[in-house]
This record gives sequence, C-alpha cells and structure tokens, in this order.
Amino acid sequence: MEKRLRLAPSPTGLFHIGTARTALFNWLYARKIGGKFLIRIEDTDFIRSKSEYTKNILEGLNWLGLKWDEEPVKQSERISIHKKYIQKLLECGAAYRCFTTEDEISDLREEQKNKGLPPKHDNRHRNLSKDEIESFISQGRTSVIRFKIDEKIQIKWVDQIRGEIKWQGKDLGGDLVLSRRAIGYEIGDPLYNLAVVIDDNFMNITHVVRGEDHISNTAKQILIYEALNFNLPTFSHAPLILNSEGKKLSKRDCVTSIDEFKDMGYLPEALANYMAFLGWSPKSAESEIISLDEISKIFDLSDINKAGAKFSWEKLNWINSQYIKNMESGKLCKLISKYWDNMGWEPPSKEWAIKLAILLRDSITLLKDAIDQSKPFFLIPTIQKEGQDFLEKNDSETSLKLILNYLNEQNAIKVDKEKAKEIINEISKMYNVKKGILMKSLRVAFFGSLSGPDLIQSWELFSESKTDISRIKRCLKLI
Ligand code: GLU
Repeated sequence: MEKRLRLAPSPTGLFHIGTARTALFNWLYARKIGGKFLIRIEDTDFIRSKSEYTKNILEGLNWLGLKWDEEPVKQSERISIHKKYIQKLLECGAAYRCFTTEDEISDLREEQKNKGLPPKHDNRHRNLSKDEIESFISQGRTSVIRFKIDEKIQIKWVDQIRGEIKWQGKDLGGDLVLSRRAIGYEIGDPLYNLAVVIDDNFMNITHVVRGEDHISNTAKQILIYEALNFNLPTFSHAPLILNSEGKKLSKRDCVTSIDEFKDMGYLPEALANYMAFLGWSPKSAESEIISLDEISKIFDLSDINKAGAKFSWEKLNWINSQYIKNMESGKLCKLISKYWDNMGWEPPSKEWAIKLAILLRDSITLLKDAIDQSKPFFLIPTIQKEGQDFLEKNDSETSLKLILNYLNEQNAIKVDKEKAKEIINEISKMYNVKKGILMKSLRVAFFGSLSGPDLIQSWELFSESKTDISRIKRCLKLI
C-alpha cells in the first residue's frame, strides 16, 4: 500500500516555524519510506482564513525545499461531503442534534467552575424524542450536531513517537461538536475533528504526523474513524518548539514566521537543517551539517524526542554560517547581490563581486551581514575615532605617502594580492617602516577603522574598483 503523509495547515496566519517543522518531519519520513508528501489547506474558518496566507505557506514550503507530490486539497471545497458524513452519523445514531443555547452552556461552565470541575458538556440532548426536537425547532432554536462519546470507553493507540497512549472517554469534554450552529434541520459548517477524519480518509493518509497539541484530538478522531468504519492511520505527535524560558514559541518571541527568517538572511538549507534537529536526535549522524536528502535516509519517527525542543538562535546562526562558508562562490555572490541591489550598490564587475563574496564569506553569519561588511567597498567610509587616533599618533602619514608615491611612480598599477604583498615588503625594507604600520595606515584609509577583512585581498578589490589611490589621498588630507 502506498504510504501517504500530509501537512494540513490552517491559513490563518503567516507560515510559522512550528508548522514548517511539522512539514519537515512529514516530508522527511515520506522520503524515508518511499511515500508521498501531500498538502491539505484547512481553510474552513472563513473569518480568519486568507488566500494570501495559503500563498505564503506554499511559497515557504517551496523555499525550504519541501516539495509536495500532488495538487493541494482545499478543505473548503469538501464541505458538502463532510455534511453527508455528518448526516450518516446522525442516521446511524452515533450523533444527534443538540439545542443547548450559548447561555445554557455558560451557566453549565460557571457551575462546573464553582465546583472546581473542568468544562464538560452534560450531553443533555442525547436522547431527545422526535417531538422534543420538533418543539425546539419550532421555537426557532439553533442546533449543533454532537457525536456521542462513551464515558467508559478507553481509547488506545501506539504513537510512533511516544509509544502507547491511553485516553479515557470521560476526559474528552462530553459529546463532541461536529458542526457549527444551524437553523431548523440544517447541518451547520463542519468543524475540525470531523473534517480532518473525512479528508484524511479521502486522501488515503496512512501516517498522521503533527504537533503534540493534537493528542486529545487524536483520541476524539479515532472514535469517529471507528464509527465510520474507516481504516486508522498511524499517529505521531511531535514535541512543541519552546523558547529559551521553556514556554511554547510564540509571536511574542519576535521571529516566528518563515518569511522573517528569510528576510534576516537565513538560508533555506540551513534553516531546514536546523529545524530537523529541533526534536530529532539521530542515532547515527556524523555531523550536524547535513542536507535534507541525507537526513531523509537516516530519519526515523522513533528518533524524535518526547520532550519539547528548545529553540536556539546560537545553533541556528552557527549552522547558517557553516552553509555560507561552504557555499559555491557564484551562488553566494548572487544571493548577496540582492542586498547590494537593494542598497543601490553596483559592483564594477562580476569577477569583482565574486571576489568580494569570497572575502566576506568567513565572517558573515546571516546574508544581510554582508550589507555592513561590504559597505566600505562601495562607499567611502567615515574615519572612526580609533582610525583618527592611529593616523595622528604613528608614522601613518609617512606610510601613506610612501605607498601613494609608489603607486604614482608605477603609474597607477593594478594591485593584485601578490603585488600588494610586494609593495608592503619593498617599502618596509627600503624606508625602514614597520610592515604593521604600513598595513594599519592603509587599513584606516580603506576602511576608516582598524578592523575589517583581510587587507591584502581587500587592496586587490579597491585597486580593481580604482578607489585605492583616492582613499589614500583623502586620508592624507585629513591628517
Ligand atoms: N489545521 C490543523 C492545524 O493547523 C491541522 C492539524 C492536523 O494535522 O490534523 O493545527
């Protein structure tokens, strides 16, 4: 039998890291067992669902490299089918109309609260007679459809992550509401627990992998599967992603949507690699830098931890920096170029741009770090206090003059790395100036401060963009 997994996001917000991690586990396991990864958009909350969120979720999945295998299913297009199944449950006596009003429910809650009891429906309309139903309807009362839950039943399943899970019928909050309120004999819009069972069955889903916040839903859903005689899929409940305080990662933790990670300059490969380790501890992985294809070969649901997974910016940053370091230079240059374009900075040539990308790649953690670090290569930097102090205290003026004369004498030669080293060596020997002073003075002229990337390689770039001489001259004027 074909193995089929799915992600069933509700498009009520931007693609969230928790949903992305669930998608990743589903995708990895589908690949591991040679199955399919499918998408169902659960867009039946008409008030909160938006098509731009669907777009955002699908784009985010694509960006992360989590391609799906069939056209996504839209839950909202299946409402009439869900209603047919509700009708079937009504007809076989597994469900019934419940006319309890909102006020009655509030009173019940209040009463239970005062007694220190958890909220639970008292199933008061489970055995209404035809006449009673008719009387409620003629009074204009609306009704929901409730699914009967046997208080005494024990629901059991072997969770692929958590082992055996047992749930008591009495702890499920009373008979389960399957549909929203409707007037007369109508059936209102179906709710999540009903729709998810019908759709997972329709899509022939064999493995349901989702967050642990759905454990009690699974218990309810198993009862619906049984009432409809559907084959049960296997269930797996992944741990939640926690913030540094051990609480569920939420919007309050600043960055939670995949777009934000993208905008900050995280690479999709790095974010996906990091997310795989959010809850998954492989028995055998030699490195933590590992592609999704490689992970999918060794991935197993049983290697997912039960305990919550703490989100660590430090680890994500480290993984991102490793991907940047090891990226093919042309590809890296293309990615960084987008940031340069946004700033209106134009590299003098493609080769120059690639050299600059190579120069920066060891020191950037996020792609957007390239903005600050490449700024002095595009704009004349202001001289910082430390640079100013250096120019004043040392033999900087002499150093810069010697370098300038050398360049002028050679008629503005092209300085490549070899030539740059040669110039420093020669001037140092000829005029007895320390190499360190020569290089630091030059660094201040180029970068305005005493820090920055490798000076020799940078000189080659400044020479190619024909700004080395002008920067030295400008500095000399300031001394
Ligand atoms: N729409 C549900 C959610 O986003 C799906 C849960 C499930 O996978 O069944 O939480």
